[in-house]
Amino acid sequence: MINVVADVEVSGGHWIGGERVASAATFDDVSPIDEAVIARISRGGATEAHAAVSAAAASSPAWASTPPTERARLLHRVADIVEDRLERLAIVETIDNGALLRSHLRGVMPRVAHNFRFFADYLVNDLHHPDFETRGHHNHVSWDPSGVAVLITPWNAPLMLATWKVAPALAAGCTVVLKPAEWTPLTASLLADITKDAGIPDGVFNVVQGLGEEVGDALTGDPRVSRISFTGSVPTARLIARSAAANLTPCSFELGGKSPFIVFADADMDSAVANAVEQYDNAGQVCLAGVRLLVEDAVLDEFVERFLARAAAVRQGDPRDLATDVGPQISREHFERVDGFVRRAVTAGAEALLGGGPNEQLGGLYYRPTLLAGAAPGAEILTDEVFGPVLTVQSFSTEDEAIAMANGTEFGLAGVLFTGDRARAERVSAQLVAGTMWVNCFFVRDLRAPFGGSRHSGVGREGGTWSFDFYCDVKNTCTNVDRWTT
Ligand code: NAD
Repeated sequence: MINVVADVEVSGGHWIGGERVASAATFDDVSPIDEAVIARISRGGATEAHAAVSAAAASSPAWASTPPTERARLLHRVADIVEDRLERLAIVETIDNGALLRSHLRGVMPRVAHNFRFFADYLVNDLHHPDFETRGHHNHVSWDPSGVAVLITPWNAPLMLATWKVAPALAAGCTVVLKPAEWTPLTASLLADITKDAGIPDGVFNVVQGLGEEVGDALTGDPRVSRISFTGSVPTARLIARSAAANLTPCSFELGGKSPFIVFADADMDSAVANAVEQYDNAGQVCLAGVRLLVEDAVLDEFVERFLARAAAVRQGDPRDLATDVGPQISREHFERVDGFVRRAVTAGAEALLGGGPNEQLGGLYYRPTLLAGAAPGAEILTDEVFGPVLTVQSFSTEDEAIAMANGTEFGLAGVLFTGDRARAERVSAQLVAGTMWVNCFFVRDLRAPFGGSRHSGVGREGGTWSFDFYCDVKNTCTNVDRWTT
């Protein structure tokens, strides 16, 4: 089952044990750009899930005992091919998920390659703990591959988020079954081709396509699976946790957010405003976005005025156009969900200072970048994740009030803080509940850093050593060094 998307051939089949496998049932893959069907994809179920875990389990011993330097070499080879095929991956991803081609070319696909290079190098150069002595006994810490990792990923940054898991799992010596989101199945399929061409042995990397509710349980409830890493929504995480509980399979969850973006009166206002407008990136479909603008009342009017002036220059349109800043929402269903949030907020008394509805000129799934003011404390628009181009603005008068407002949701993914006062930055950062704090900046990512969310934004951390801690069985070997006979 071969689809052709922007002149690129993309298999609609699964990738199991080094072979393309088709299911009798299929589903349509729709582009958010114009809602056209662009591909037919195999609709997997328990049978395909079982086959993929079987392939991963069968290849696990050999991959786990492959020397780290050889695993690293193969992962660098994957990165080389990603770089060779960067334009193809970028255009297919743009057509599949509607995110900007500009971003895919300049930032996202280079980061995909970097994911592989980073974890390959980390495995070889950085993954160690100093040995230590205990009363004549020698302690050595090692990271043993845990077995089969099931990786389940969302649609908002498909290949980037998938490889953020695939790369460390493979580096760690796990074999992998990847289940990409059904709204964006294409680049996972292209990654399967890349792993084959790179020489990754059959069965080490597998892809099962399908609808989460049809294929998910068979993957997450399989007793042969040693790790589950999931990025997606809170309700799905609950289902996965329930399924994994039967086998006590460890889970890493990277979930939703409703992050605060705090601006104090002493902040560099140019930078604060520019970064605030950037929260419309990826049409607001970014888990980390600082969507609640909390602005000190002394500068509220100035901030809003400058925000609106800058946001007026944001260009919405076809994401393939390199001049476009904001593209469409992922799907009709998601578009309606975003619009529902905005309508209910306005009905409940909020005012749209910007946007507030679909982009009538463009039609389709284009939702206007929106800024809402005047929402009542506790309103759903201030507490629930919208995951669209919708920001709210509120004012505060004291530092304590800002902290209370910032922490006032059930999430804790990120916090963004703009202030010129270093002591204040340290005080406020220390008190915010968040896996990542950005002070006077936004979206600066280093793969050595721990990444994850607190509260309902996630369980566990990935990145650097934390990724290896998750995908491996970490072992301490304590040896009495006086007992050697040879
Ligand atoms: P989702 O939970 O609907 O789906 C995510 C994945 O889970 C998909 O592959 C889906 O097919 C699969 N799935 C669905 N039901 C399943 C089940 N019962 N068992 C196993 N798998 C199942 O989420 P989404 O709408 O694709 O993604 C958006 C969400 O992801 C938002 O909440 C966003 O904040 C979050 N997200 C978080 C991060 C992060 O790093 N914290 C990054 C990106 C997105």
